[in-house]
Amino acid sequence: MNYFNNQEEAAAVQRAAKVASEVFKPLRAKCDEDEVYSPEATTSMAEANLFGLWLPKEYGGLGLGVSALALVLEEMSKVCIGLALPVGTSALGGMPMFFWATPEQRAKWLPGLASGKKLWAFAISEARAGSDATAMQTTAKKEGDYYILNGSKHYISTGEAADFYTVAVSTNPERGARGISLIVVEKGTAGFTFGKKERKLGLRTNPTYDLIFKDCKVPVANLIGGEGKGLLAVQETFDYSRPGIAAQSLGLAQGAMGEAIKYLKIRQQFGQPIIAFQGINHELAELAAKIEAGRALVYKITSEMDADFILASSEAVKNNTTVHDELKKLKGPRWTKLSAMSKLFCSETAMEVADRCLTLCGGIAYTRDFPLEKYARDAKVLQIYEGTSHIQKNEIAASLIKEG
Ligand SMILES: Cc1cc2nc3c(=O)[nH]c(=O)nc-3n(C[C@H](O)[C@H](O)[C@H](O)COP(=O)(O)OP(=O)(O)OC[C@H]3O[C@@H](n4cnc5c(N)ncnc54)[C@H](O)[C@@H]3O)c2cc1C
Repeated sequence: MNYFNNQEEAAAVQRAAKVASEVFKPLRAKCDEDEVYSPEATTSMAEANLFGLWLPKEYGGLGLGVSALALVLEEMSKVCIGLALPVGTSALGGMPMFFWATPEQRAKWLPGLASGKKLWAFAISEARAGSDATAMQTTAKKEGDYYILNGSKHYISTGEAADFYTVAVSTNPERGARGISLIVVEKGTAGFTFGKKERKLGLRTNPTYDLIFKDCKVPVANLIGGEGKGLLAVQETFDYSRPGIAAQSLGLAQGAMGEAIKYLKIRQQFGQPIIAFQGINHELAELAAKIEAGRALVYKITSEMDADFILASSEAVKNNTTVHDELKKLKGPRWTKLSAMSKLFCSETAMEVADRCLTLCGGIAYTRDFPLEKYARDAKVLQIYEGTSHIQKNEIAASLIKEG
């Protein structure tokens, strides 16, 4: 079933499919083995105009909203979630800025983001502040026209490769969660360096780094949305970005199942192709039904979100206001519960599909001669980043309790 809202989305997905099959496929095994980032893969996504799908045309985007973003993430994740991730992290790092930026900040940063010439990343996690981001210890102290940042961030995707980092800091530790702010830090700023590169189970084609700030001087003009607005901006962003992780999950699941079906059709045991055993093909049927249910959930949510998202984006440009203010004026629904449901259901589905497909294919799937072991290793992170499955359940339960 296709979930395109218009021809432009269908065309974007076609471009994404071409990038995935022609560029990602030949690169993925080697990049995974060597744990390296591929600038070539990122350039191919920029050339296919996949970074700015969700951004307004005024800044070089395509004005298509978050549905298009989810669709292309799904398509590319069928081949490799890691090589596709710079599109995802640029959206995640760019979105709080997009929601809360002044017109001047938008004009300065969005064209580079939309073209894919400047990559963005998002940094909230710290060694002692994971699920509980409010425990963060990185501080930013205002001195004249600058903030002085001190502290470090942990597990940052597209780390070192990205040009801009949307960093959550405490500008007022005494105020706790209300003292958290977002500051954009450009790579190359004095006092900003990269620490440890993680060696990981999966997602090895995307670099995960610590960021270190030591008396790092950042202009006050890089503050997003005012002091103390950081957590609000992050929560608002997650509402719109988590369906993107759900979409990555569905792509990974579909890709894993495709590899399994191809193999099970040719592998013969007991005188027949394994796929002909009903016990086996019924398992595939169950998994396919879950993937399709996930797609229905994700694209229903993103299409509904886009009604307000696209309107608020263009109103902000027209009225010289922030997207956040325009969204507020529209009084649309909060997406927290449904967004968390999409991430929870689809990431759990991805893990289940990758694991069960590996089992269905037997020994070969446990080896590196076959891509399924990579899908299974990659799937795990989908249950962890942008909030673990426990945290998604907490969000859903909190909404249920509030709704009565
Ligand atoms: C490969 C990778 C890439 C990442 N990329 C980024 C990035 O780009 N930017 C960024 O900021 N962060 C990133 N992260 C960090 C990620 O978001 C965190 O790992 C995640 O939020 C969980 O935090 P934690 O690892 O500290 O686990 P912890 O918070 O220590 O949790 C440990 C366990 O306890 C559970 N738990 C914790 N609190 C609760 C609770 N209240 N109720 C129930 N269970 C609970 C968790 O679900 C988990 O099972 C990345 C992580 C990885 C592994």
